[in-house]
Amino acid sequence: MPTLTTERVYNFSAGPAVLPLPVLEEAQRDLICLPGAGASVLEISHRSKEFISILESAKQGIIELLGVPDTHDVLFLQGGARLQFSMIPMNLLRGTGRPAHYLVTGSWGKLAFDEARREGDATAIWDGQATNYDRLPDPFEYEIDNRATYLYFTSNETIQGVEFETEPASPVPLVCDASSDFLSRPVDVSRYGILYACAQKNAGPAGVTVVVIRKDLLRPADENLPGYLQYRSHADNDSMYNTPPTFAIYLLNLVARWLRDEIGGLDSMQDRNRTKARLLYEVIDNSHGFYQGHARADCRSLMNVTFRLPDEQLEGLFVKGAAARQMTGLKGHRSVGGIRASIYNAMPLAGVEALRDYMRDFAGEHAKR
Ligand SMILES: *Cc1c(COP(=O)(O)O)cnc(C)c1O
Repeated sequence: MPTLTTERVYNFSAGPAVLPLPVLEEAQRDLICLPGAGASVLEISHRSKEFISILESAKQGIIELLGVPDTHDVLFLQGGARLQFSMIPMNLLRGTGRPAHYLVTGSWGKLAFDEARREGDATAIWDGQATNYDRLPDPFEYEIDNRATYLYFTSNETIQGVEFETEPASPVPLVCDASSDFLSRPVDVSRYGILYACAQKNAGPAGVTVVVIRKDLLRPADENLPGYLQYRSHADNDSMYNTPPTFAIYLLNLVARWLRDEIGGLDSMQDRNRTKARLLYEVIDNSHGFYQGHARADCRSLMNVTFRLPDEQLEGLFVKGAAARQMTGLKGHRSVGGIRASIYNAMPLAGVEALRDYMRDFAGEHAKR
């Protein structure tokens, strides 16, 4: 384990997670004095022209990367993804007298569903708990009521490592928690009522949550909702209803620029992510059962690769040996166990190759012949 070293490791943490090195370097360069501002971005008013131009640029960056149409607005909120678990049903369900539908494909979806039940008639029309969320539903396994106010799903379940390749078809507005695969690939935003993500997995640091919302959903059914909890308040004030998380938005802007200028957009990001994930899944599939993937092969995440070893002692040894090779953050979530390698946008190919080589070596050394 590197303790007193200043060397960067390959960081496979699920979140907060690795950020692009050029982004960190730029932030470091400009931390004391943002060019033109005469002070750090940490020290200036959110109403200053310098900060307003950063916020506008971050918003424009998201709009361009995702191709957000005019029908939708982009908001920068606080409270993490967890506040969205409540804000969504508060704004879209409470006071409607209609149901909301949830596809529960993992731990995060389950938590979101539990919050929605406090606000109204929320139903889990599919729940993968019986097989510890190792797969996604086939469309014939659930039925969507046309009266539902929305259909909620989690595009990538960070803990179990299952990911929708495309959004489910739905006659009612789709609401998606994309926290752990936001900006990892192109998305047809016009199909969504709300697409949201906390930044600290794939888009920036903790502290800001991006909410892409169809404008006709901004107004809540229940006008008595506290002002802060209404999407409308934030939209009407250009995400400055109160002091926004300025530094987090600044970094998000740098990440969006990195995706545009250095990666070349989301198509190219998706290609890279596919290549990276394939390297690890190939080792799992060719290990003769030494590595057991958690997710069913047709539901595998490109972001969080989850797998077990033959026993917990070997898993402990695996994590320790990885740390000795400067690879950290690999211990799986306690509800799944085993190993989780989070290989978000900013994880370089070289990091994944290092892990792949280590996995091969480790299996070679420890698999029973
Ligand atoms: C991390 C994560 C969350 C929780 O995010 P917070 O910002 O801590 O509230 C929710 N959903 C998914 C899919 C996540 O990966």
